[in-house]
Amino acid sequence: MSEQTHLNTTEERVAAGAAADPWYSLYADRTLGMKQSEVRSLFSVVNRPEVVSLAGGMPNIAGLPLDFLAELHARMVRDRGAKVLQYGSGQGELPMREMICDVMRPDGIEADPENIVVTTGSQQALDLISQILVNPGDVILAEAPSYVGALGTFRAYEADVRHVEMDRDGLVPEKLEEMIATVRAEGKPIKFLYTIPNFHNPGGMCLSEERRPQIVEICRREHVLIVEDNPYGLLGFDGDPATAMRTLNPEGVVYLGSFSKTFAPGYRIGWALCPTEFTRRLVLANESATLCPTTFGQFAVASYLQEYDWYQQVKEYREVYHARGQAIQEALEEYLPELEWTKPTGGFYTWVKLPEGINAKDMLERAVANGVAYVSGTAFYADGKTGADHVRLSFCYPTPEDIKEGVRRLAKTIGEEKELLGLA
Ligand code: PMP
Repeated sequence: MSEQTHLNTTEERVAAGAAADPWYSLYADRTLGMKQSEVRSLFSVVNRPEVVSLAGGMPNIAGLPLDFLAELHARMVRDRGAKVLQYGSGQGELPMREMICDVMRPDGIEADPENIVVTTGSQQALDLISQILVNPGDVILAEAPSYVGALGTFRAYEADVRHVEMDRDGLVPEKLEEMIATVRAEGKPIKFLYTIPNFHNPGGMCLSEERRPQIVEICRREHVLIVEDNPYGLLGFDGDPATAMRTLNPEGVVYLGSFSKTFAPGYRIGWALCPTEFTRRLVLANESATLCPTTFGQFAVASYLQEYDWYQQVKEYREVYHARGQAIQEALEEYLPELEWTKPTGGFYTWVKLPEGINAKDMLERAVANGVAYVSGTAFYADGKTGADHVRLSFCYPTPEDIKEGVRRLAKTIGEEKELLGLA
């Protein structure tokens, strides 16, 4: 339940809200905890050309084969327009689901298209899974920190999110066991563990191979469903995907994938690979949300995967992100060697601990004035307060030169902030 609902009576809330919005009294309680994510609210600032944005996680799609896609789309409309522009299946088109099976193969997953539900980005899968499972006050376990977009969805369903500690090797199994015991002692239902095992957003780390079966086993024993969110799995710099938790217990894991980072986010195509019976419920939720996911987008992505060397494209993305990942490491070593940060081996992000006493949220205005943007660590905790001692830096979008300049500006900002607070 939102803080606002705790603090105010309904009458007080309505009186305050109605002054600003005549429809306020009609909004459902669950919407009152919704707020714009700290990442989204930065969008207008970071789009200013003088600001180097190490904030948003926009994939770098400059290398896409646009001529090829233009021709593919034109051909699709001309030859198959009546099919690809029609309503489709609530589960997703079969050719799309078959191709998704191919895309998951490098992860070691052998899937049946029958267990796949195509969604509007994996973001919508998170929404539908929450809708299916979460009653207000139910517990969702998530890493500390966790993906801001998932936390926003969980908040919309009034979940009680409990963060579980991570270290450089990802989620700590003992801490997971402890948290499960704590929540059970409170008599609260735990609906699922939400985890990003590969190239974590925002942490940048991977769950170690050793811990994967341990986490799966704990959840199996405790009857906790795992939601394994894996949009970055194919984007390891060295190219070797880790063991998917899904392979360790297919009936205990909902695996989420997405074409947003490995192809293009504009298609808005993601998917959930589900335990058998769970699939049917997710299809019903998908149908009630959108009738069917984008038919045109699915045929376009499926044709791209069939006709183009998509894995080569993924390899090219890896090289781009590798160079940028290296650039941010070098810049941090050069300008902020006294700080600690994670050293990602893939994905888009690094998680940087600020010097003692500095608050990431308070420092942001100064950073933007100095021409650099980041996301405060507070965005990645359900309470919106924890995490002020960290920032997330994204290295996916700016060029290596801009990354270097951005980190230089960040170092300058930290120096000024220290002086101002008497920490220097
Ligand atoms: N999960 C994680 C961890 C993400 O970082 C993102 C996008 N930033 C998503 C899910 C949602 O991606 P999409 O809806 O584009 O598939």
